[in-house]
Amino acid sequence: MVVICVDGCEEAYLDVALAKGRMPSLARILETGWRGSARGALPSFTNVNNAAIVTGMPPAVTGISGNFFLDPDTGKEVMMNSAAFLRCDTILAAAAQAGRKVAMVTAKEKLRDLLSPGLFVEGVTGMAFSSEKAAEAQEETHGISDVEVLAGDTPPIYSGEASVYVLRAGVALVETKRADFLYLSLTDYIQHKFAPEEEGALEFYEALDEQLGRLLDLGCRLGITADHGMNAKSDVAGKPRVIYLEDALREQFGDGFKVICPITDPYVVHHGALGSYVTVHLEAPEKAPEIAEWMRGLDGVTEVLEKTEAATSLELPADRIGDLVVMSAADTVLGRSPEYHDLSQLDRPLRSHGGRFETQVPFIFSEALNTEYIEKSEGDPRNFDVFDFVCNGIK
Ligand SMILES: [Zn+2]
Repeated sequence: MVVICVDGCEEAYLDVALAKGRMPSLARILETGWRGSARGALPSFTNVNNAAIVTGMPPAVTGISGNFFLDPDTGKEVMMNSAAFLRCDTILAAAAQAGRKVAMVTAKEKLRDLLSPGLFVEGVTGMAFSSEKAAEAQEETHGISDVEVLAGDTPPIYSGEASVYVLRAGVALVETKRADFLYLSLTDYIQHKFAPEEEGALEFYEALDEQLGRLLDLGCRLGITADHGMNAKSDVAGKPRVIYLEDALREQFGDGFKVICPITDPYVVHHGALGSYVTVHLEAPEKAPEIAEWMRGLDGVTEVLEKTEAATSLELPADRIGDLVVMSAADTVLGRSPEYHDLSQLDRPLRSHGGRFETQVPFIFSEALNTEYIEKSEGDPRNFDVFDFVCNGIK
């Protein structure tokens, strides 16, 4: 059983690659399998949705509200990369404890630590490693020490190979019968760089497809989804469409604002920490309604929610989202002030995610669904139901 999270897989990537005949294995899957669409959690960021997928729970339960946040306990702005932030158990740990041979392979190292609690407790022999740090995997800490023998040399993280490697490692683990319950999570480097019709994207999807075919030939049941989609966020001249919100607020109301960009992560080449969702911390929280109303009038801002409303309607952990949640249009990103965003590493027009317009993602199974799950699929399936569907929904 293999669940694959194709990071940043806007549906159009699959549509275009399929139409151009570049994904024959996926076409084969779809002949007898099932393709639908699911809604990811907001904010549409990597850590948020990977945590939701491996736990089957919304962010209000996982506690993972971004890649980065202002920790109310310490007052410090920190990455939300460590297992200490995860507030519930994972399906992977439960499967390992039930005796399944569980392997989690991620492209980004940040996800490995975040999602591996319970895989290495006493009496359990799980496996978790990243392609980014493949060479560093050790038996005691990762459950495996010969990753490079299995899948090849550690690839650079800023590459399509970092993702293909994850799938290749998964194939090798199934082939050698070392795992039978796998979570394979890729990276969105390619989707941040290339639009669906560009050759850079097509050759990447072709390489993924080859590994999908191998998993299929090994008799795996596949569930394929994504953590979020991806949209172009630049104008016709290729300049990012950014609203620097902290500057705008200071200009209008004076000091007393901190804008947090939860897309911020160690992989700056992807997006310069610019996404379509930010949170705002106020020195005077009682002014939230007035400030929210003003921000709603900004061109490119599509939604502004106060804390309680955001926690309820978006199922977010209230203690980790600040006083206001702000989202922007499909073609616009939100930033703090220019000095917080290093755009010098962006070598192509900005493509990013984080908001409402990047929550709809593929939801694909290698076999037909049973009647009960066909009904469920007509409701409002969420990407974090993927383990449930692949375990219980396939005929
Ligand atoms: Zn992602």
